[in-house]
Amino acid sequence: MGQHGGMNERTEIDWQALRSVAAEAAANAYAPYSRFPVGAAGLTDDGRIVSGCNVENASYGLTLCAECGMVSDMHLTGGGRLVAVVATNPEGQPLAPCGRCRQLLLEAGGTDLLVDGRNGPRSIVELLADPFSPEDLNTPSDGG
Ligand code: ZN
Repeated sequence: MGQHGGMNERTEIDWQALRSVAAEAAANAYAPYSRFPVGAAGLTDDGRIVSGCNVENASYGLTLCAECGMVSDMHLTGGGRLVAVVATNPEGQPLAPCGRCRQLLLEAGGTDLLVDGRNGPRSIVELLADPFSPEDLNTPSDGG
């Protein structure tokens, strides 16, 4: 595996610990419809571990992914940026973030964010190529 530049080199990422926290979160998921509980855990740039679980709704379309709750937990507990993230099932096996959550994670972590998966950690920009980002809000459109 190659090096991912730009990450805070002092931060040791304990992926096993993150998977464990995510699995605990998944055990608290509210997923009575899909019966597919998911937990997410993230390491912030100041060393906090934040987490969330998925929350379903009888309307189905309003379901919140575990990553949504985790990002809310990050802002609630002091903000900062995510450095490393994993979403898992209750057994701690990594799951791929859905497309919406890749966008959410990019904004919460920036382009240096590492996301665990079945084949090990990967950069968020590998998972979400050519993303729409906050800078795009300030970019004039081409040719008017
Ligand atoms: Zn999602």
